Amino acid sequence: MTAKKKYAILKNLTSKELKEICKQHELRGFSGLKQNELAKFASENLDIPVEEIESLANRFMEDKLLGKLKDAKDYFMIKQVEIEYFDEDLIKARVGGYGITIKNLGTDDFSYTCDERCQDWLYQVKKGKYPFCKHYPAVIAELIYRGDIDPKVKPNHISGRVYDALLEIVEERKREEGLTQIGGRNIEQTLEDLKADFLMISRQDSKLARKKYHDTAEKAFETLVDEAFLLLEFDTIPRRREHGWDLLLIGTHATPPYVAVIECKTSASGIYDYLTRDPDYLVRLKSYCIDMTKNKLIGVYRDYVKYMVLIAPDFPKETETFCSQFKHLTEGIKLSFMPVPTLLYLVEKYRENPIVTHTFIERLFMKEGIIRESDVDSIFSESAEYIAALTQRARNELRRKMEEFSHRTTDACFIKVDSVILQSVINHVLSILEPDLIKMGVKESTGIETISIKHDYFEIWSQVLHGLADEFTKILSEESFLQTKRTELKEELIRFLDIH
Ligand SMILES: [Zn+2]
Repeated sequence: MTAKKKYAILKNLTSKELKEICKQHELRGFSGLKQNELAKFASENLDIPVEEIESLANRFMEDKLLGKLKDAKDYFMIKQVEIEYFDEDLIKARVGGYGITIKNLGTDDFSYTCDERCQDWLYQVKKGKYPFCKHYPAVIAELIYRGDIDPKVKPNHISGRVYDALLEIVEERKREEGLTQIGGRNIEQTLEDLKADFLMISRQDSKLARKKYHDTAEKAFETLVDEAFLLLEFDTIPRRREHGWDLLLIGTHATPPYVAVIECKTSASGIYDYLTRDPDYLVRLKSYCIDMTKNKLIGVYRDYVKYMVLIAPDFPKETETFCSQFKHLTEGIKLSFMPVPTLLYLVEKYRENPIVTHTFIERLFMKEGIIRESDVDSIFSESAEYIAALTQRARNELRRKMEEFSHRTTDACFIKVDSVILQSVINHVLSILEPDLIKMGVKESTGIETISIKHDYFEIWSQVLHGLADEFTKILSEESFLQTKRTELKEELIRFLDIH
C-alpha cells in the first residue's frame, strides 16, 4: 500500500532526481534502470515515510519552478511584459511577443493559457508536469511591480520560496530603476559564494547548483560569471537563452568603451577542449560576435565589439592555436580563454586592492591566448606604476598653476586667490585626471560644463588626492619659509602709526 503511494509521487520525478534520492539513501543496484523502473525500484526500497518522500518531491518541484522564475526574470527586467488588459477576473498580457490570458487570479476558479507557440505550455503545463510556464510568473511580477495586485494576495501556483524569489525580482527592478533606496551591494556575500562554489559549479556539480542556486550547473555558472564581472565594475548584459552568447561585458570606463562577448562552458573533466576536437565551433563563435552582436549595432557601437572570451574551468594549451584563425575569420575580433581560477584570482585581488581600471583589464582580453594568474599580476603592477605617474602629473600641474600666480599675490601670511583663479587651478588639475577618473562634457540644454566622477575607482582617487594634498601642503610650507613681503594689515598699521 505505501509502496503504491510512494510510486504515485516518485513517478513524476526525473531519472536524475530519482538516482540522487537513491544515492542519498545509500541504495544499490539501480544503475541502468529507466525512469519508470527507477521510480518502482525506489518506491519499493526506500525506507522512509510517504510524507518525507512527498516533501522531497516538493523540494525538487520548487527548484524547477525557481528555474522557470529565472527565465521569467529576463523578460521582466528588460521590460518585455506588456499588460494589455487588467481587471479582477481577467488579465491579458504579452511576454516577449507571446499572448497570455489569466482568469480569476488568486481564486479557486483560476485558470491560465499561454501562447500556442509556447513549448513549455504545450508539453509541460498542459500535460500536468508543471503548473506554469516561464511567461506566467513574468506577468505576475509585472502586476506586482505596477501595484495592480496586492502583494498580500498570493498568486496561484506561486508560494513559499518561489514567491519570495518573485518578490525579490520585483525589488531588484525597483532598485535598478532607482525606485527604492538600496542598502548597498552585497559584495562580501557574492565574493564568498564565488570562492566557495565557482570552480565546483564550472565542473558541473549539479547538486550544488540546484541546492544553492536553484538552477542547472550551466545556468548557475553563467550567473556566477556575471557576478564575478560585476565585482570588477563591468556593466553586463546577461542572456539566458539556449543558443548564442551568454554575456556581454561592457568596459564602460575605458576610452573608448569596449564590448567583450562572453561564452561560459562547464566541463566535468575540468578541461574544456571542445574547440580542439571540433574546430568548426569557431564558426559558431564567430556568429555570436558578428551576426548576433556587431551587425545588430550601428555606427561607432560596432567598433566597440572587440573581444570574445571563453570561460571554463581550464583549457588545453593547443586551444590557443585558434586565436589567430578567429581574428582572421571575424576581421579583427580577438579571442582569449579565461580559466575560472584566473577570473577568481582577478576578482579577489581587485576587491582587496581595486586599482585596475577597465583599460588595464582590457589588456587581458587582448592576450589572444589562455589568460593566467601571472597576466593578472602584470596588470596590477602596470596599473600601480600608472597611478603613481598620474599622481605625479597632477601634482606637477597643481604646483605649476600655484606658482604662476603666487609670486604676485603672496605676502608673509596669505596666498590670495580669487574664485576665478581657484576654478582655473582646479580645472587644470582635473584635466590631468581625464579620462582615467573623470569624464568632462557639456550639458546640451544649458551649455554648462559637467564633470562625471568615476566613483568605482575610489581607491585610485584616494591615491591621487593624497598626492595632491601632500603637494599642496608642501607648497604652503615653502611659501611660509620664503615669504617676507609685508601683509596688508601690517602696511595699514604702519601707515596709521605714521612710522616710515
Ligand atoms: Zn508560456
